[in-house]
Amino acid sequence: MSIKEKIRENISLKEFNTFRVGGEVKYYLEVKSKDDLMDGFQFAQENELKTYILGGGSNIVTPDSGINGLVLHISNDEKQAKGDRLDLGAGVSLAQAASLALNSSLSGLEWSSGIPRATVGGAIRGNAGAFGTCMQDIVETVEIYNSKRNEFETLSKNMCLFSYRSSIFKQKPQFLVWKTILKLEHKEKNEIEEKMEESLEFRKTKYPQLPSAGSVFTNIDPEIAKQANPILFNREFKDKIGREGWLSAGLIIEKAGLKGKSMGGIKISLEHANHIVNTGKGTSEEIIMMISYIKQQVRNKFGIQLVEEVTYFGF
Ligand SMILES: Cc1cc2nc3c(=O)[nH]c(=O)nc-3n(C[C@H](O)[C@H](O)[C@H](O)COP(=O)(O)OP(=O)(O)OC[C@H]3O[C@@H](n4cnc5c(N)ncnc54)[C@H](O)[C@@H]3O)c2cc1C
Repeated sequence: MSIKEKIRENISLKEFNTFRVGGEVKYYLEVKSKDDLMDGFQFAQENELKTYILGGGSNIVTPDSGINGLVLHISNDEKQAKGDRLDLGAGVSLAQAASLALNSSLSGLEWSSGIPRATVGGAIRGNAGAFGTCMQDIVETVEIYNSKRNEFETLSKNMCLFSYRSSIFKQKPQFLVWKTILKLEHKEKNEIEEKMEESLEFRKTKYPQLPSAGSVFTNIDPEIAKQANPILFNREFKDKIGREGWLSAGLIIEKAGLKGKSMGGIKISLEHANHIVNTGKGTSEEIIMMISYIKQQVRNKFGIQLVEEVTYFGF
């Protein structure tokens, strides 16, 4: 099939993001192979189009007015277990990866159980994690496509510059995650299964079940909160530092009295104040207004500048 036959036009992005908002993208390509990827970039270059890399769409806000460009939907879902390693395409979902790990008696991905639609590629870019563990702990190497040089390269874990919810892929948008090798640890199947169930149960009971993008803001370095207002810090936050050493953004938003606040079809979740939910007819404009309102309120009340974990996609 030629690239022109593979590319679809005027595709609604609502189906492709967990907030369920956004308009249509002019051109859309499901990228299954290296040839698809290179053809996609060539098509974009020939037609002077901007490209946007989409994984599971579980961490994005995309414009209601749509995107005039080419969305490359990374869907290479090759996966294989070899000894204590998983060889995974960037388009494999975390759920599929965790299930392969379980079947191979490998531990290290249990924390991801219950995260909807996220892919391995998106998770590496954002160094996703939960319950004290993250992608950085298990990534061994990452095969990338460097769209500036038009070539594939392999990065070691150190070269990925992982830090809390960040990596080199946030600094260099020309680096696209194509494949990865994760190094996990052999454990008893029932032990792995138990941890997966705990993660699922936690997410079911503590997180909202309406469409969302998970945590909207990253957690806060306690030193920053202390510098902003030492008296307030000692009174409100000193004893609330989590086991990973961060102050929960959800707690700060809750303390600012914003839990349950609505704007049109968008609401700050009553279950977890760092989750904004779409109650049905929410729009990305409302999400952006809400994000900006939360940031302003938290800044005014506590002098703390919240930073988005969600990505603005196509603006
Ligand atoms: C209910 C819910 C719970 C969540 N819980 C957690 C949690 O516990 N911990 C956590 O860390 N996150 C959580 N998330 C957020 C989200 O799932 C993660 O950030 C996830 O890793 C995003 O992956 P994705 O494939 O959906 O990326 P997308 O949302 O598709 O994209 C996010 C960004 O990554 C880029 N990207 C995507 N694929 C690639 C690639 N192959 N190469 C380079 N860049 C790429 C995109 O361009 C975009 O900028 C949650 C989300 C939801 C909806």
